[in-house]
Amino acid sequence: MSDEYILEVSNLRQYFPIRSGFLQRVVGQIKAVDGVSFAVKQNEVLGLVGESGCGKTTVGRTVLRLYDPTAGEIWYRTRSGERVNVAQLPPGELKPLRREMRMIFQDPFSSLNPRRTVKELIGEPLQIHRVARGRALEERVAQLMAEVGLDPAYMERYPHEFSGGQRQRIGIARTLSLSPRLIIADEPVSALDVSVQAQVLNLLQSLKDEFGLTLLFIAHDLSVVEHISDRIAVMYVGKIVEMAPAEELLRRPLHPYAEALVSAVPPADPDLQSRRIILEGDVPSPANPPAGCVFHPRCRYANSGSCRTVEPPLQEVEPGHFVACHLAKELHLAGIGG
Ligand code: SF4
Repeated sequence: MSDEYILEVSNLRQYFPIRSGFLQRVVGQIKAVDGVSFAVKQNEVLGLVGESGCGKTTVGRTVLRLYDPTAGEIWYRTRSGERVNVAQLPPGELKPLRREMRMIFQDPFSSLNPRRTVKELIGEPLQIHRVARGRALEERVAQLMAEVGLDPAYMERYPHEFSGGQRQRIGIARTLSLSPRLIIADEPVSALDVSVQAQVLNLLQSLKDEFGLTLLFIAHDLSVVEHISDRIAVMYVGKIVEMAPAEELLRRPLHPYAEALVSAVPPADPDLQSRRIILEGDVPSPANPPAGCVFHPRCRYANSGSCRTVEPPLQEVEPGHFVACHLAKELHLAGIGG
């Protein structure tokens, strides 16, 4: 692990057992995350995108050890420079890391306890970790509210007195309260109106710059992550199928699934017309993925040989550009506006 990386995930697997019958015997596995590897640099934003159910949220939760991984390594470099494998840490040793690695949840409507004031909600992590109390806690809450664009005069109010965008700002202030270094943002704007999404994205971008944060930004919509991400990883049925610098992936996707996602992004230049690629069929079940390339049943370029029988490995085909497709070097796929 190089010094520049704060997080390095290697061959991560997260399987959930399928149980059946009176004795609840294990009859199968849902391979929610199946051999995922990536690394994130300090102060970098890695966007993790894919359709609902592709495993991206499970990756985020497993990195934070909200789930115990089935296999794989999650190397994290702490504030003091120590390198720890989060996947192997005993539960008692996770608490200090919970200050450094925090999550922003998708739904600001359900992630905030409606019976608690904003002061209590933002101040709770500070109390749990015994960082501040009394007057110092109130001052820290006021400071955090100001940092996320909320008026500290409203700290005694309840979540229902705020709009959706303001509630997500409360959630972000709560996440920032312990001065984290790594934030897993799980669909942080999906539940918000489009007009409010841009404000929250801009806030996250400025907070990232101000505090030197590192973000794993999870979203189902490529157009949400394209501006905030330095690099983007595309997931499909538990695997990363393409990973590249954001601009390059949008301009020149190398995986047919990424090409379809890119085709749905409206081009910034109104003179460019994008031809939306509609994928046929459904996403396969991670309990029973197809043989060969997991995308082959929906891929319009699939051949009748290797695509159906051999799983393509994720390979670096150009510096920093990884793709899992047998035909990556032969296909000429359309990028944004293409
Ligand atoms: Fe399509 Fe074959 Fe590439 Fe899979 S390996 S994405 S089926 S062309």
